[in-house]
Parts: sequence; structure tokens; C-alpha cells
Amino acid sequence: MEDWVSIGYLFSAALFIFGLKKLGHPRTAPFGNQLGALGMLVAVVTTILSMQLAGGAEWILIGAGLVIGSLIGYWLAVKVEMTGMPELVAMFNGFGGAASALVALSEIWKYLENADTIPTGLELTVTMVAAGLSALVGWMTLTGSMLAMYKLKGGISVFGKWIKTPTWGPSWLNGVKVLLMLSVGVLIYLSIGEPTNTDYMWGIIGISCILGIVLVLPIGGADMPVVVSLLNSLSGIAAAFTGFIIGNSVLIIAGSLVGASGLILTFIMCKAMNRTLLDVLFKSFGGSGEKASLTRTKVGSDADEVAMMIDGAQKVIIVPGYGMAVSQCQHQVKEFADLITEKFDTEVKYAIHPVAGRMPGHMNVLLAEANVPYEQLIEMDEINGEFPDCDVAVVIGANDTTNPAARSGEGPLAGMPIIDADMARTVVIIKRSLSVGYAGVDNDLFYMDKTMMLFGDGKAMMSQLNTAIKEI
Ligand code: NDP
Repeated sequence: MEDWVSIGYLFSAALFIFGLKKLGHPRTAPFGNQLGALGMLVAVVTTILSMQLAGGAEWILIGAGLVIGSLIGYWLAVKVEMTGMPELVAMFNGFGGAASALVALSEIWKYLENADTIPTGLELTVTMVAAGLSALVGWMTLTGSMLAMYKLKGGISVFGKWIKTPTWGPSWLNGVKVLLMLSVGVLIYLSIGEPTNTDYMWGIIGISCILGIVLVLPIGGADMPVVVSLLNSLSGIAAAFTGFIIGNSVLIIAGSLVGASGLILTFIMCKAMNRTLLDVLFKSFGGSGEKASLTRTKVGSDADEVAMMIDGAQKVIIVPGYGMAVSQCQHQVKEFADLITEKFDTEVKYAIHPVAGRMPGHMNVLLAEANVPYEQLIEMDEINGEFPDCDVAVVIGANDTTNPAARSGEGPLAGMPIIDADMARTVVIIKRSLSVGYAGVDNDLFYMDKTMMLFGDGKAMMSQLNTAIKEI
């Protein structure tokens, strides 16, 4: 029977790996998701089976966990707005880390109840180091993710008063981070000598919670995507450590897959931001979080004027950003692209910045939902060379990702590669005002002579533009 447990875990691990492979392309991603979910189902059933073999599964606990978990999951899924998804994902990372750390803690607690279960020699060292690291990574991921969630939200409402999430990171804080990490190392070392002394574990948990906050506090502005993907990776690493402690192979494999893919994403994000991971974690590039106060003005255009200008354009590049997600205007954007292709024979492409929106792949997901052909979604590095030949760049709710201030080498956006929309012959920008984007930096692109501002909600303005084009 134990062979069946191993086969079940092997099967679920294979499903995770194939699922991950399928996630590599938008067309196959939904199937990849289903494979991953099936892999998890197989893993859960196999675990229950192995518990039954080892002396009887605790059906009441399992049932209660399933019911409570499903209810919370259902409530969150129904309640969350599409724009709240990045915060929810950040929170899920945190819960994942904490869940792994709790499982590791419960294993150590068993030593208190039954001293006969305490391993000896190398096995004890490996178990205590893995438990300490699981606690470090898990609790740090929880508090770091909670802070990241509030940073993505921009603040927290306390008794109806809006308190902005601070971004604060004097250079001496780096010394504190190193000191805290060293203290955890010392506590792990001490815990090996006294596995039944839970004070060490509580110390590790407390320091790790502080460490999560101290690590995320200085990061803001354009560096947040890196932190969110790093936290995602950490939640997987915590799970892998826990897998070692409880001797569960599928947890080790699944945790390693999440950890490794999260790290790859982190490095992709770093590359997109033109930073190294150490720079993000220790240099506090994110800026003060203070929003620039705007003094300049710009006269807005109207939909008819923009439609007339687009009539005759041979090439239009659409640059979507977070505002498209807020206004949910992806269907109107697709309609706009179809209209000008059919009516004016215009070539249309979409320029996708790796950190546009508030989560990796945010724009791809929205545009795929509107059935935009994948071939038209072009990554930043590839599309930037086409802007000098582009008649009109239509920027829909994007701001930081098109801000030429990033080229200046100063401020929260310093060094971040941008979509070169300012190189197009004419630029149309659809947003509600001249206000700044996530990084809080005023955008020179709005004030250029060749820029037409179409002020208003993305969906309303795209609908007006489509009507104006139909009437030409
Ligand atoms: P920005 O956040 O820079 O700007 C979005 C713009 O959308 C705002 O200036 C806002 O202007 C406009 N907007 C908001 N609501 C609407 C609406 N209803 N209709 C039309 N426009 C609207 O977006 P970008 O996508 O250019 O940049 C993303 C930023 O988020 C980057 O700084 C990135 O680092 C950061 N980030 C990205 C993450 C990721 O994983 N992708 C994660 C965390 C942060 P107005 O109010 O005037 O309408």
C-alpha cells in the first residue's frame, strides 16, 4: 500500500511539472492551471491515504479544514475586485509561508510531548536547521507580504481615516537587517543543542516577523514588483524546508518548483527594472513615496479630434497600463483595434511593459480575456525599435512605464527601461487627470507638443473614441 502513496506523490509531482511547462504560453496556460489543480487534488488524496495507513486520518480535522478553507476562499474570490487581485496574490504568498512555518512548528512541538521521537546526530541537526529556516522564511514572508499588500493598496483605512503606507529606509537599516539574520542563525544553532527548549523557536519567529517588515519597508515605487515575486518565491522555499522536516516528498518538489519559478520571475523583474536583487533589497531605490505636486497644466482633446487624427495613421501602437485594469476597458480597446484595422487599414500592435499594471502578466491576462491575438502583444524590448515609425501611440492608463524621467538616472524610476511611446509621431494619452502613477513621479510625456490628452475614465473614453471612429 505504501507503494501507492509513493506513486500518488510521483504522479502529482509530474502533474505540477507539466502544468508549469504549460503555463509558459498564454494559449496553453489555462490547461496548465488545470493540471496544477489536479496535481494538488492527487497530493491531498494521497496524503489522507497515507495518514489512514499510519494509524487513522483525523476526519473531523480534515473536514473542518476543507470547509473553513473553502468558505474563506469562496468569500475572497467573490468579494475581490479585479483591481484587488495583486493584493490578494500578495496575501496568498504570506498565508502560504505561514502555513508551512506552522506545520514545521507543530513537528517540533511533538518533541515536547514525546521525547522518544527526537532524532539524534545528523538527523537532529538537519531537522532543527530546516525547522529554523522554515520559520525564518515562512514568518518573514507573512509579515513582508502583509506590508506589501498595504503598499500595493497605497494605505490602510483606520476608523475611516486613510493612512498612507510609509516607505522608509535609512542606510543604517541595512545593518539591522544583517544583525537580525545573524541572530536567527545563532538561535538555530542553539536550538540544535536543546530541541525541547521552545524559547529558541519563539525567538526565531519574533525576529523573522520583524525581518519581513524591515525588508519590505524601504521598498516602494517601481521596485514593488520585484518584492512581490520574491515573496512568492520565499513561500515556496518555506514549503520545501517543511517538506524536509515532515519527510513529504511532494511538498519538497512543489515548494522547490514555486521557489525556483518565483526566483526566475524575480530576476526577470530585476532585469526589467534594470536593478540587481541586492540593489532592490539594500539600496532603497523606491523613493520616499511622496507624490510629486503638480503645477503644470495641459489642455485636453476630445474623442472626435483624436478619431480624425487616427484616420490616415498607418501604424498604431497601443500601450496599456494599470488604468486599463482599473476601468476594465480591454474589450473597448480590442474593439478600437478592430475598427481602425477594418476602416483605415491600420496596422495595430500592443506594447507590453513587464511591470505594467500591478502584477506580473497583468496586461497579458486582461488582453487575452478580450481575445486580442497573442501575436499582437509585443514585449517592450522588441517593440521599442518600432516607435520612430509609429504614427500614433495610444497610451491607455499607463504612466510610470512610459515616463521619460526613468532615463534621467534620478528618482524612484531611475534606470527603469520604459516603453518609448515618446518616440512616436503623435501620442494620445487616455487617463482621468495629469496625476502621477504608482511611483509618484510627474510625467513629461503628458506635456509634449505632440501629445493629446483625452481626459476621462478609460472605458468611457474608449467608448467615445470608438463611436467617433464609426461616424467617420
Ligand atoms: P501607473 O501606476 O504608473 O499609472 C496608472 C495610471 O492609470 C494612473 O496615472 C491613473 O491616472 C490612471 N488611471 C487610474 N484609473 C483610471 C481609469 N479608471 N481610467 C483611466 N486611467 C486611469 O501604471 P503603469 O502600468 O504605467 O505602471 C505600473 C506601476 O506599478 C509601476 O510603477 C510598477 O513598478 C508598479 N507595480 C507593478 C507591479 C507589477 O507586478 N506589474 C506590482 C507593484 C507595483 P489618473 O488618476 O489620472 O486616471
